[in-house]
Amino acid sequence: MDAPISRVGVLGGTFDPVHTGHLAAASEVCAELGLDQVLLTPANSQPFKIGFDAAPPEHRLEMCRLAADEDDRFAVSAVDIERGGVTYTVDTLTDLREQRPGTEFFFITGADALARLDEWKDAERLGKLATFVGVTRAGHSLVPSNRPHILVEVPALAISSTDVRRRVRARRPIRYLVPRPVADYIALNGLYYGGIDD
Ligand code: NAP
Repeated sequence: MDAPISRVGVLGGTFDPVHTGHLAAASEVCAELGLDQVLLTPANSQPFKIGFDAAPPEHRLEMCRLAADEDDRFAVSAVDIERGGVTYTVDTLTDLREQRPGTEFFFITGADALARLDEWKDAERLGKLATFVGVTRAGHSLVPSNRPHILVEVPALAISSTDVRRRVRARRPIRYLVPRPVADYIALNGLYYGGIDD
């Protein structure tokens, strides 16, 4: 029988697409905080990005699965995509706590996203549901959040999903910026090749 998992990271993001920086962040936080597992948890629709055209959730989820397959410490949770609608972290954590009673959760995301934690739904309750961990990008100035959280520096976070999408559109290489199976999936499904980007 598997040993019970007690300290679990929830890596939340749009993952449009998941890239090596996200995986480096998951790995670094896992080691720093002694986590047993990190769940890549793609948002269905991010509250501050309503109207923004992200790739369909099924594609973002599948790319996370392909990326997580490469590391035993990583798994994927479809909790936000299965719930549908706007993804509020309070719901993510409530659902995960129901699924995994007794687990201590660490919600990990970009430190720039955490800077607006005060504006998140049920901000007061969030700190009771999980410890918040912000991962920082090299050379990124931070707007500090006054909600308690841990900061972890991840140099490889210079990679961004926006840059990966722009590169695909410009027919520039993304190899080594995303895991090989993710690059193949993007090419096979023609993701990010056309249209307008931010
Ligand atoms: P975002 O605005 O796209 O991300 C902000 C920045 O953080 C981006 O530069 C992004 O880079 C980076 N980032 C995002 N996720 C990351 C990760 N897991 N590891 C490293 N960097 C990451 O925000 P988002 O990604 O859509 O949302 C982040 C998470 O916070 C999601 O789970 C979302 O549902 C949650 N959230 C909740 C509320 C709420 O409850 N009200 C509000 C906002 C966000 P990349 O583009 O390269 O990923």
